[in-house]
Amino acid sequence: MRLTTKDSKETTKDSKEKVKKTFVNFVVKSHNGKRSSLFAEVDMSQDILVIGGGISGITTAVEAAETGYNVILVEKNPYLGGRVVQMNRYFPKLCPPYCGMEINLRRIRTNNKIRHYTLTEVQNITGNKGNYEVTIKVNPRCVNEKCTACGECSKVCPAERANDFNFGINSTKAAYLPHELAFPYRYVVDSSACIKCGACVDACKYGAINLQMQPEIVKLNVGSIVTATGWQPYDAKKIDNLGFGKHKDVITNMMMERLAAPNGPTCGKILRPSDQKEPKRVAFVQCAGSRDENHLAYCSAVCCLASLKQITYVRENIPDSEAYMFYIDVRTPGRYEEFYTKVNSDEKVHLIKGKVASVEQDGDGLIVVAEDILSGVKSRVNVDLVVLSCGMQPTNFSGLNINRDKNGFISTEQGSGIYASGVAKKPQDVSSSVQDATGAALRAIQSR
Ligand SMILES: Cc1cc2nc3c(=O)[nH]c(=O)nc-3n(C[C@H](O)[C@H](O)[C@H](O)COP(=O)(O)OP(=O)(O)OC[C@H]3O[C@@H](n4cnc5c(N)ncnc54)[C@H](O)[C@@H]3O)c2cc1C
Ligand code: SF4
Ligand code: SF4
Repeated sequence: MRLTTKDSKETTKDSKEKVKKTFVNFVVKSHNGKRSSLFAEVDMSQDILVIGGGISGITTAVEAAETGYNVILVEKNPYLGGRVVQMNRYFPKLCPPYCGMEINLRRIRTNNKIRHYTLTEVQNITGNKGNYEVTIKVNPRCVNEKCTACGECSKVCPAERANDFNFGINSTKAAYLPHELAFPYRYVVDSSACIKCGACVDACKYGAINLQMQPEIVKLNVGSIVTATGWQPYDAKKIDNLGFGKHKDVITNMMMERLAAPNGPTCGKILRPSDQKEPKRVAFVQCAGSRDENHLAYCSAVCCLASLKQITYVRENIPDSEAYMFYIDVRTPGRYEEFYTKVNSDEKVHLIKGKVASVEQDGDGLIVVAEDILSGVKSRVNVDLVVLSCGMQPTNFSGLNINRDKNGFISTEQGSGIYASGVAKKPQDVSSSVQDATGAALRAIQSR
């Protein structure tokens, strides 16, 4: 049987009601092979599913919910906020990202039209625009809503895990709080690290821990879907010549965000990994993997700005420091030009036009080798720390058969019922992602 939507009408005066009636053309094949067509009125869902709880997904969810629609927001991490909550500051204003995020999280907390699931992934989607059947899997947190985040479980827990929020720079206990400003503000037990000793259960005065919690399968019926699954950092280990994974003091730009963040592994002190000393000379290597056919063929759009921002972290944190930025082109479009000019006006900041050929260990320091295009001289710069400006790669996920461009970014058609927003669609900064996500909310509302 094939279903095609012919026409639709609202059955109630309130267009924001959950269910609307739609005429559907059922093409039925009889036993003798004859096809006949019959129209029937069926219920269509007006709920909207948003996959990914970063700034884009959160924006789509609150905009659609505040217009009056029911939204289900699904996030695979144990907290909402995506990559933005891992940042130390936002360019260009250099304010902490939690300024804007906190307002959005309050909008979620106070709006009963948004149902959110953390630790959750989509398993399967079937159906059509206006009537999707979605299966989601809610993984066990092993900690229920009685948790007051007192931290007693973590104190007694003997097992450790690499802290993925800090890109493995430090570790947490198996019972842990994802980060100090996590939403929901609740502990979680990492089942893959837990040795099931039960010490946390005994330590919790509130009866909040249940180590027997099982994954839950939930079926949803939604009218439209927005994928806001964002990005992951390009794997720096794949760029052989730049020494990540080989030299301890070669780090990525996202690791730098965590090192500079007051809630990071060094409480905001920029210390190099090998000896925990302040680096006095820091090199930023642009296009680490980006604009390179062997890695990411595209420009990630924000990395130049991210490095200029991180140069301000270094210069503020360590006043007698110098920063070197090796670039192919500095891309700071529109009003961001002002930010570039400001950072570049610091005499301790050196911008060198040239692609880095290699990063080599030299005693307890590093040498960055590059062709200085403007002077024509091969430069060898001694530094204490190298930051690779790695690009943004679209997050892959299963469960949804969706069009992607050759670089893996999601491309959807107007009227299809499934849309993308934010970096899932293309590399972009936060303010562009927010604008895009607002547009996606409108498209999702219109297409059910
Ligand atoms: C080093 C660096 C610094 C940056 N600094 C700035 C800055 O200062 N200012 C600025 O404007 N921009 C900055 N950016 C860009 C900024 O990070 C992005 O614009 C922003 O993260 C886009 O948000 P998003 O919601 O689209 O994606 P994300 O932040 O990646 O959020 C996507 C969410 O979807 C979730 N998800 C993924 N797959 C699934 C799935 N299958 N099921 C459920 N959930 C899923 C993820 O866990 C995540 O929570 C920076 C980028 C880099 C690389
Ligand atoms: S689970 Fe219990 S012990 Fe752990 S933080 Fe929550 S309330 Fe405290
Ligand atoms: S049961 Fe697991 S989470 Fe709890 S204390 Fe033991 S190792 Fe830690």
